Amino acid sequence: MASSKSILAKIFAEYYLSGAQARQEGRPIAYVTAFTPVEILRAMDVVCLFPESYAVVCSASNKSQEMIQASTMASFSQDLCSYSLISFGADHYPRPPYGGLPRPDMLIATNNQCGTTFLWFKLLSQKQNIPLFIIDYPAANPNQSATRPYIEEQYKELIKFVQKHTDRNINTQELNEQIICSRKACDLWLRLHELNKEVPPPLTATEIVDSLFPMLAAKGTPSACDFYEALIEEKQAIRNENSTDSLRLLWHGYPMWFLRKRFPDCFDDAFQVVLNDYTLWWNLDYPDEQGDMDALISAYSKTYLNRTLNHKIDWVDALARDYSVDGVICHANRSCRRALADIVPLRDRLHKKEIPSVIIESDMAHAGCYSGEQVKLRIESFRESLSI
Ligand code: SF4
Repeated sequence: MASSKSILAKIFAEYYLSGAQARQEGRPIAYVTAFTPVEILRAMDVVCLFPESYAVVCSASNKSQEMIQASTMASFSQDLCSYSLISFGADHYPRPPYGGLPRPDMLIATNNQCGTTFLWFKLLSQKQNIPLFIIDYPAANPNQSATRPYIEEQYKELIKFVQKHTDRNINTQELNEQIICSRKACDLWLRLHELNKEVPPPLTATEIVDSLFPMLAAKGTPSACDFYEALIEEKQAIRNENSTDSLRLLWHGYPMWFLRKRFPDCFDDAFQVVLNDYTLWWNLDYPDEQGDMDALISAYSKTYLNRTLNHKIDWVDALARDYSVDGVICHANRSCRRALADIVPLRDRLHKKEIPSVIIESDMAHAGCYSGEQVKLRIESFRESLSI
């Protein structure tokens, strides 16, 4: 079996070449938001590119501040989500990483994560005259049968929209294969996380965060499954020699893409993040007892950010127990208002359950909103309180 590193490098290269290749081959390109049902689009031969993921790459390449600064030239408020600011800034920035994303033929936005994405795509559509399709998801609730026809109708309209703009039809066998691969990739993704229930954990939080990319770029393809299978096998083969009495932490919310390790530089073998729940947001549930459309409706309606506040808090609370953590670090992320709304109620719940927690304020992509010294001080004093 190829190494996980080589499979990941291949997925990354193929994704960033896919736009140029699509242009040469006359295949349509769509910009999509993170929780778009890409299986439908890929089964219609559409190449899907993710501006949010591109913003992550820009931030990890230390370009976020300059690119966000460039967005001010187009008069964007600096209060907006920094992913959108980086994306807007790319149009005014002389050397964006990988030369920027190619112009799309269509835009597909969803509101199952936030209200920002469809406004962001609406603006792109207006400015560049690109056809836009928005999928509206009611907030996830246990009675999914009430919302199912509404979402299914929109999926049918999406197929018509793509047919109209590309002349491509949906390949239902391909759709079924995509869903099978997506389901398998999610199962493997969860298994990878669960390795860290072990003491000591075999993976660092950085390794898990840096393994997220195939869940976007290659979900629904065998290569994402190959990558996660290889990584699990490699990690299972390594006996971790770290100390077994270290303090175990859960990092709630977004990592910080601009930091070399994606997390502040104050963790070590004796004080380690064993789970970042953000990466599990991509673990969608594709039930296999119903048809393909139902599997997609279920997976994309029940995204973490589309859940009720109570459900989200129960989920994090359960993770804290399942991974036997000693404390929780809650990242109050300036950019993401929907995620930000969970922080104080979550802290209160953890407090009631006597799970120590601390809130740190920053941003997932805007390095200018990060005060390294302040964050480090707060985490270090949290460490001291846990060690007493
Ligand atoms: S970070 Fe939050 S606000 Fe920004 S695009 Fe993602 S979900 Fe939306």
